[in-house]
Amino acid sequence: MKPANFEYFRATSLDHACELLRAHGDDAKILAGGQSLIAAMNYRLARPQFLIDISNIDSPSEITDESDGVRIKATTTQAIAEHDPVVRRRLPVLANALEHIAHFQIRNKGTVGGSIVNADPASELPAMSLLLDAEFEIQSASDKQVMAAEDFFITYMTTALQSDEVLISILFKAPPENSGWGLHEVARRAGDFALVGSAAIIALDDGGKCSFARVVLFGVASTPVRATEVEDALLGQSCSDALFAEAAKKVSEVVDAESDVHVTDEYRGNVAEVLTVRALADALSRAQAAS
Ligand SMILES: Cc1cc2nc3c(=O)[nH]c(=O)nc-3n(C[C@H](O)[C@H](O)[C@H](O)COP(=O)(O)OP(=O)(O)OC[C@H]3O[C@@H](n4cnc5c(N)ncnc54)[C@H](O)[C@@H]3O)c2cc1C
Repeated sequence: MKPANFEYFRATSLDHACELLRAHGDDAKILAGGQSLIAAMNYRLARPQFLIDISNIDSPSEITDESDGVRIKATTTQAIAEHDPVVRRRLPVLANALEHIAHFQIRNKGTVGGSIVNADPASELPAMSLLLDAEFEIQSASDKQVMAAEDFFITYMTTALQSDEVLISILFKAPPENSGWGLHEVARRAGDFALVGSAAIIALDDGGKCSFARVVLFGVASTPVRATEVEDALLGQSCSDALFAEAAKKVSEVVDAESDVHVTDEYRGNVAEVLTVRALADALSRAQAAS
């Protein structure tokens, strides 16, 4: 399959990309790693008239250790983020999620920002951005803004990003001290998109009770979803397998799964609950080890 005709621009900086977007508006698309966009173009699911390639800008990879988290430039490849020592030390759940994305050849080209803007509800990085309370730095030719991850994802492959805006960087917030994480997903084959995934972070207070909880599911609705009902059932409680099993029943409140060629909606709902129990159990044992 071949894409429809398009004109190609190689941006030299993010400002240059914003200028090109302003000039070509709705007919233009940013090209980052091309691992999703080029396939969509080849299938004629996307037919941009202008492609603005940001993979050759000055210093495309940048990962900064900040007081409240780790900032990753959007054009950083998934492979660079996966192996970065700061990411691995401060955000081990993100490093683990990156390892689940496709195969290393794809991660060598695919970018952190591209995955987030692509907003596939089964993707790991949009889910991680909710789990880690991420903030997105967004720029157009005339404006700059910061948007919370929870305001960003609208529905399948659709975000709040406007057609003249570029995602510049993502600040993934570090979880609290004494916290632990868990991440489980089910895919048909290693490297495939997840059919269902669940990620959790738990922190414990001095008495061993749950003082912080985050639970995010992916592959179960039109966007990744935070399961606040599960979190509320954990806060202030002594963590145990029984508590996790009871709390995880509440994932049904956020699961809005559809059947597809792979699995039924019922399967997705059941597996979401099971994976949430496993993610919480892992989070607890890591939190206990950290305390
Ligand atoms: C075989 C295969 C298996 C895969 N498996 C997985 C998987 O298991 N999990 C997973 O999460 N992903 C998976 N992917 C997708 C992969 O992670 C892509 O790299 C990612 O979704 C898109 O990143 P990219 O940099 O290639 O973006 P591109 O394909 O270049 O762009 C994707 C979209 O984002 C826009 N965009 C990109 N960067 C920006 C920016 N900075 N600002 C504004 N808009 C931007 C583009 O205009 C386009 O609409 C898979 C891909 C393939 C080919």
